[in-house]
Amino acid sequence: MSLETVTMDRINELSQKYSVPIMDTLMIALNRYGIMMDIEDKRIRFRLKMLGSEEVYYFAVCVNTFESPFTVDAERRLFFNGQLVGRIVDIEKDTCDTTYFRRNKTALTLNSNMRSMCHGCTFCGTYNLDPDDRIDMSDEKKVHDFLVRFLKENDVKDLEHLLRVTVCTGCFKDEKDLVEHLVMVNNVFKEFGFNKRIRYIGSQIRSDDAMDYLQKNLDYFSLSLTVECFSDREKRMRKEKASLDMNGIKGVLDKAKKHGFSTNYLYIVGLDELDIFKEGITELAPYINRMPIYQVMQNYVIEHEEQRVEAAKDLEYYIQARKIIEAQYAGTELKPRSWENYRSLFYSTYQDKPYECIRI
Ligand code: SF4
Repeated sequence: MSLETVTMDRINELSQKYSVPIMDTLMIALNRYGIMMDIEDKRIRFRLKMLGSEEVYYFAVCVNTFESPFTVDAERRLFFNGQLVGRIVDIEKDTCDTTYFRRNKTALTLNSNMRSMCHGCTFCGTYNLDPDDRIDMSDEKKVHDFLVRFLKENDVKDLEHLLRVTVCTGCFKDEKDLVEHLVMVNNVFKEFGFNKRIRYIGSQIRSDDAMDYLQKNLDYFSLSLTVECFSDREKRMRKEKASLDMNGIKGVLDKAKKHGFSTNYLYIVGLDELDIFKEGITELAPYINRMPIYQVMQNYVIEHEEQRVEAAKDLEYYIQARKIIEAQYAGTELKPRSWENYRSLFYSTYQDKPYECIRI
């Protein structure tokens, strides 16, 4: 554990220096440091209402993996260095689930190929979570049976209201297997009234052939490429994933855009020096048409602290990253979406204006 600590004076100082609301600075800190709490679980999810705000935000943070200034007491009150800052509701253990809703239940994430089995990236915490995804969804019948059970359990009649199904899951044997799986999932969902967008989060779709197949067989498709970081990619990531260098990343996003897909990427804030981060997001800007998802690096295990570059051990790094992102997308239509990023750098404001958005 690092001995870096942050005080309320420091929060106030950063908030003033960068014109970021105190509440947002605290919530960024909460993501970065996690929580100290008297429980066995290493990671929890909850809704949070900060003092002085009516909004309810959703968080998934690590527990007892860093000497955090945040603590939670038996009444579910959140303290920062002993000072009450918010109240927590609906606390639950964070597991690697098979499926869950977002965006007021109009978006659904499907982990249909057991992500908890995936290993190999040094900063990843998925395989440290308790698996709750060991369900075989390798063919139409299995997905169909799963959906019947899922709808019943959630008391949902059909899937007509769903705007997007995101497949975020473990790696497939190859690209062909993956795209066939996506089309199969879409076909089964259609039987339940679904008629909107399939989105894939990952890095296994790369070729024109795969994209042609998706274009032909899906009405709407989005590709969210898991870029994660710009430097030391070979050291940090699974071999297949790291095999995509910056030119490769641009090539995949470019092809996806030319196929008429929505494109963006996922990135973990804390793994690159800020000048590299800035350069990388500027280079990728022409290749995306949706806001990328910038997630604060979290310590799923104590050792993850060492994955951060030295500068990213300090809270100021994340506030600076927030300013870099705001400047990069100034004057564009692109905006972050709270409900698709629970480890965000943005809460009550974005580009110095009130930031209203569905949160969960
Ligand atoms: S590919 Fe890497 S980051 Fe993604 S789930 Fe597997 S180990 Fe984690």
